[in-house]
Amino acid sequence: MATGPEEASALLDGGEHAALRRWVQEAVPARVACLDVALKSLPEPKHLGVLSLDQPLYMVVHSASARLAPENGALIHTIKYLKPGERYDPQAVEHELESLLNRFQPGWQREVSEQQFLPHMNATNAIVQAHSGGLTGRPGPEVPGIRNLYMAGDWVGSAGQLASASLASARLAAQLACKQILPPKQTAVESDYSFTIGTR
Ligand SMILES: Cc1cc2nc3c(=O)[nH]c(=O)nc-3n(C[C@H](O)[C@H](O)[C@H](O)COP(=O)(O)OP(=O)(O)OC[C@H]3O[C@@H](n4cnc5c(N)ncnc54)[C@H](O)[C@@H]3O)c2cc1C
Repeated sequence: MATGPEEASALLDGGEHAALRRWVQEAVPARVACLDVALKSLPEPKHLGVLSLDQPLYMVVHSASARLAPENGALIHTIKYLKPGERYDPQAVEHELESLLNRFQPGWQREVSEQQFLPHMNATNAIVQAHSGGLTGRPGPEVPGIRNLYMAGDWVGSAGQLASASLASARLAAQLACKQILPPKQTAVESDYSFTIGTR
């Protein structure tokens, strides 16, 4: 299963599986509000990235490092990191992100071709927490009490964070599944699989 912990728990034993319920209770997701803007041209090419130190704000012109916009156009992602459990006014957050753009890309509104505001995105399904043992305290991929079920995701296993954790736990889950279904002499398949993942 490659979902978040809540969805996984809801799909198993009608939400009553003890380990999964505990994992859901322990997981603290990190959420962000995003304002994405596609511009016909970039007003201020000197400001390609801003990471605020006194406020949880971020702005990156991703089209400067990847082909995400037509020639002369620009794609900018802005983010506000939200405190877990905090109640907030989405409109106020959108204005905050617009102010960030006003400051570092003045005149951006005249250049807008498309824009979208996503008030509540999951940045990660579970923040790594020191009190539960850090990376090594994360659950899975095995699920206690259910043979042949493995989890994969950014909240699973002891390797990496964010997308790296998803890929590392997916690889481990696949290796564990292969061990269950393949006779021992065919374990070469496992290393072929690792090689494919490693070279991508
Ligand atoms: C704005 C933003 C910027 C980010 N930047 C970075 C970055 O620079 N680097 C980085 O490494 N990470 C970054 N991340 C984090 C990264 O995107 C996540 O860690 C990663 O996508 C987690 O992947 P996942 O597959 O583990 O989980 P998810 O992406 O949460 O995927 C779970 C999937 O399960 C599906 N699902 C749920 N229920 C069911 C069901 N019943 N049946 C079938 N499917 C179901 C969901 O629709 C979802 O697609 C960023 C995230 C955001 C929001």
